Amino acid sequence: MAGGEDFVVTAHLTAEQRADLRAELERQLARLQRSMSVTDEAMRTVELDQTAVGRLSRMDSLQNQSLSKGLRERELVRLSLIREALQRMESGSYGLCTVCGADVPIERLFVFPEASECSDCVR
Ligand SMILES: [Zn+2]
Repeated sequence: MAGGEDFVVTAHLTAEQRADLRAELERQLARLQRSMSVTDEAMRTVELDQTAVGRLSRMDSLQNQSLSKGLRERELVRLSLIREALQRMESGSYGLCTVCGADVPIERLFVFPEASECSDCVR
C-alpha cells in the first residue's frame, strides 16, 4: 500500500501534479484562443484589402493570407490537442499513452502537457 491517495487511473501523477498540468493546459488554451482571434483579424483584413488595392499589394495580401492560413491550420491542430488533453483529464485517462497505454513520463507532460503519446509512440 502506497497509502493515502484516492484511486486514480493515472497513478503516476499526484493530484497536485494533475492540477498543475490542468492549469497549464487552461492557460495555453486561453493564450491560443487569443492568438486565433488575431489570426481571424488578419484573414479578415486581407479580404477587405483585396477589393480595394492595386496588383502589387494584392499579391502581398495573398502571400499574407496563405501565411495566415498555415498559421490557422497549426492553431486548429493545437486547439484540438489541448481540448483532447482536457477531456482525458475529465475521463481519468490523462497521462496514459493513447497508443500503448503506458504512463507518459511526467517530465514529458510538463514540457508538452497536451502530449497524448509516450516518447516511444510519438510520431
Ligand atoms: Zn506509448
